[in-house]
Amino acid sequence: MAKNYETVIGLEVHVELATKTKIFCGCTTEFGGAPNTHTCPVCTGQPGSLPVLNKQVVEYAAAVGLATNCTITQDCKFDRKNYFYPDNPQNYQISQLYLPICRDGHVDIELEDGTKKAVRIHEIHMEEDAGKLVHDDWEDVSYVDYNRSGVPLIEIVSEPDMRSAEEVIAYLEKLRLTIQYLGASDCKLNEGSMRADVNLSVREVGASEFGTRTEMKNLNSFRAIARAIENERARQIDIIESGGKVVQETRRWDDNKEYSYAMRSKEDAQDYRYFPDPDLVPVHISDEWLEEIKSRQPELKPEKMVRYKEEFGLPDYDIGIITDHKKLADIFEETTAICNNPKKVSNWLMGETMRIMKEKNEDPENINFSPANLAELIEMVDKGEINGKVAKEVFTHVYEDNIEPKKYVEEKGLKMDDNADDLRKTVEEIVSANPKSVEDFKSGKKQAMGFLVGQVMRASGGKANPQMVNQLLSEILLNM
Ligand code: ADP
Ligand code: MG
Ligand code: ZN
Repeated sequence: MAKNYETVIGLEVHVELATKTKIFCGCTTEFGGAPNTHTCPVCTGQPGSLPVLNKQVVEYAAAVGLATNCTITQDCKFDRKNYFYPDNPQNYQISQLYLPICRDGHVDIELEDGTKKAVRIHEIHMEEDAGKLVHDDWEDVSYVDYNRSGVPLIEIVSEPDMRSAEEVIAYLEKLRLTIQYLGASDCKLNEGSMRADVNLSVREVGASEFGTRTEMKNLNSFRAIARAIENERARQIDIIESGGKVVQETRRWDDNKEYSYAMRSKEDAQDYRYFPDPDLVPVHISDEWLEEIKSRQPELKPEKMVRYKEEFGLPDYDIGIITDHKKLADIFEETTAICNNPKKVSNWLMGETMRIMKEKNEDPENINFSPANLAELIEMVDKGEINGKVAKEVFTHVYEDNIEPKKYVEEKGLKMDDNADDLRKTVEEIVSANPKSVEDFKSGKKQAMGFLVGQVMRASGGKANPQMVNQLLSEILLNM
């Protein structure tokens, strides 16, 4: 009989912090730039140079720790993790081993079926990123670019509390949303500002000990993570079922080929010869400083949800969707502040905005239109300056090119036509041109009315005031 296996997963998540400068020097963290132009003696590991800690890194790390229910280590310090690799100019990485800045937190997740669960966080530590190797197979050489060297990272280490790909993705989404709300990082998996390494083992259901785990790297989308988890679970079960033993090792996932291969074996944890970094003084986070950081914590999703209900009276469904993306929540709040019409703003975001976003396969982060333009559009509809159909048409241009609705409508002559005399004439023309539909209507077929309204709208170039058209049509038909 086939045995039942349980998947056990713990994550190590690296997040690039959104500071302007690097963790131990004043170089810019800006992405790109010509190779080795964002560098100085510190971040290229020159002898005699000394690191100075960026205060903002501590504040972001603590903010993430507070938002994930961690205890803040008010006296923490940095350690050197020694290893030799060309992207690491000092031959050690400055990280935290003994006294990480945050410990013992948890992230609450909710699954599709409503199940709630807390994923415990073992620790969060601060460290520096490495440079980048660029391999040129054609010339058969490798280049190194230190622009990324010294960019601040936090590593968030979870306990092995997750049991499925669904839980992993719920955890990562929650983490990403929280960090985005804090403004500590943009957390883009595809650009590497959030990177998740998946530690996974399997064990028979009911077993008390964990199995041997592997660690998977190079996962740059939620889809890749889900696929890699399914694949690695199956691979480990195969090994065990055929009498073998899983080897503790680091594996690299190839999402195109949908399989992973061993990078380095880790049968014994590697010996990095950690020791306290003698160039950096210990970090003391005073009670006052911690209070200051706490007082600056922005509103996160749960509090926002409560406030949106109280302040704007939005339906729960709308609130859930809008607060699920910081960008949507920001646009919602800014637009509502201008036009004071929360439900209409919500409708535009949940309806047309989402529709276009899906059609273009874009994320809310890429939305570029200004709240002022959406507010202007909403006001124009409210004042009856354009009808609903034209508004949708105008909105596609707001979304795509951030056009100014008033100006655009003026230029294109899209103002609502509510000149009663003109409309009456058009309605009469349509009625006399469609005797069959009029007859249908008289004999009780209500759809005939819809058809006639459509014809009048079309004849007006889509600009007619639909209420007036309906009113005039009923009037004329009833008098026939
Ligand atoms: P190391 O320091 O060698 O990287 P840790 O014990 O700190 O190892 O664990 C690293 C990650 O692996 C953590 O996220 C942890 O939850 C996860 N992990 C540890 N043991 C297991 C296991 N048996 N199965 C799955 N994940 C595990
Ligand atoms: Mg580790
Ligand atoms: Zn530098």
